[in-house]
Amino acid sequence: SIPSPFLEPGDRTKVGSLAIVSLARDDFDAIRLEKSSGAVDGYAEGAVLNTRFGSFPHSTLLDIPWGSQVRASAVDTGSRGRKRRLETTDDDTPAVSQDESRKTPAKKATVASSGFIYILRPSPELWTSSLPHRTQVVYTPDYSYILQRIRARPGTRIIEAGAGSGSFSHASARAVYNGYPKSETDIKGKVFSFEFNEDRFHKMTEEIESHSLTGIVQIQHRDVYRDGFMVDGKSPNATAVFLDLPAPWKALQHLSRRGSSSPLDPKQSVHICTFSPCIEQVSRTVTELRTLGWTDVDMVEISQKRLNVTRERVGVNLPNERGNSQTPADVLEAITKLRKVNQQNKQFQKAQLAQNNGATADAMDVDSSAAASAPARASDGKEKTTPDEDHDKPWMQGRLIHRSEGDLKTHTSYLVFAVLPPEWTEEDEERALAKWPCGR
Ligand code: SAM
Repeated sequence: SIPSPFLEPGDRTKVGSLAIVSLARDDFDAIRLEKSSGAVDGYAEGAVLNTRFGSFPHSTLLDIPWGSQVRASAVDTGSRGRKRRLETTDDDTPAVSQDESRKTPAKKATVASSGFIYILRPSPELWTSSLPHRTQVVYTPDYSYILQRIRARPGTRIIEAGAGSGSFSHASARAVYNGYPKSETDIKGKVFSFEFNEDRFHKMTEEIESHSLTGIVQIQHRDVYRDGFMVDGKSPNATAVFLDLPAPWKALQHLSRRGSSSPLDPKQSVHICTFSPCIEQVSRTVTELRTLGWTDVDMVEISQKRLNVTRERVGVNLPNERGNSQTPADVLEAITKLRKVNQQNKQFQKAQLAQNNGATADAMDVDSSAAASAPARASDGKEKTTPDEDHDKPWMQGRLIHRSEGDLKTHTSYLVFAVLPPEWTEEDEERALAKWPCGR
């Protein structure tokens, strides 16, 4: 078996690998990179990714470092209304019949080639942003916190139910991965995943196979409320559990240490997290956890905001020589200050323009104090120092402003955590007493 692209992606893109295409911030697509020599389905370019930013034959996406920016093909493969048949198939060059290429207006080709994408190595975070949604999913802010609270680390054995769209499964597979195994028996960390819905179970099985995660994620078609968490009659020996189910309390009876069919590691503490959107569900889960002997029960809600930090020019409150704002004493002072601010704003804008155009302040005919805020270049190519040192000060570049963006895409739920300590047996007590220097 090949290593999973999520775990061992290598340095460069390759045929057969899953890749995440970044079209814009927060707009990702997952594709499988295909061999491009020769035609595919009658298309001269072979496999082509068509996007609103242009067309990208897979030949342009292969054998390049992950993270590369790729420009759209000059051939407008995306907007054609017909199939352009292959004339020659002996290389990767998009081959279009002479008649057809004459029909494609040159302008269109220019438009097609103006866009670009980034090709990114698969990661659980990017998969969460691009996966086909079959259910609500657990998002990165939640699963990163959950995984550290349930002590997931290389070698950990996790029980997960239900599998849903596989967002949590991918994140937990990476967390427990303990290196590319030589054989099945070398795999220590495992995710035992359970899904009740048959269609979702089959889709997850296909995905896990195609992402080469089969040895790490083992998925079962199961109603866990009724049938619990044993796998082929054996215990998964789990030390971590994550339940994203409509009624997690109904599954807890199967996560006991008592009886011959416990799916838990008998020697270690087990950490659990349940994920529920309503407080009533939390309440029932907490009651059941306490009744069954779980300890350290607590609840957390992740609430994350993304802050956009910019600099903005500010109005009448002029900074003094130490950079602190001062409120004007009367109207006259306010007007005087306002004039000064307006003048400085104009100078600031001119200097910004000069900087953006890469021109020297002299060439732009900007006065020396305005030129000061733009690092101008002298004719010898070295940077000129300018008389108005104030413009180098951060407060002259504007006051720092931060605004929170719309809430991060996250399925807000309550996270209930608890710990089940190992059973203390009579043999444990005997051993402990034997070690105790005072004896019985
Ligand atoms: N955690 C998943 C993810 O990150 O993609 C999403 C899980 S989704 C919200 C809940 C899943 O639990 C659904 O796919 C549902 O079919 C499954 N489910 C519901 N009851 C179940 C049961 N008794 N046994 C197993 N799975 C069950």
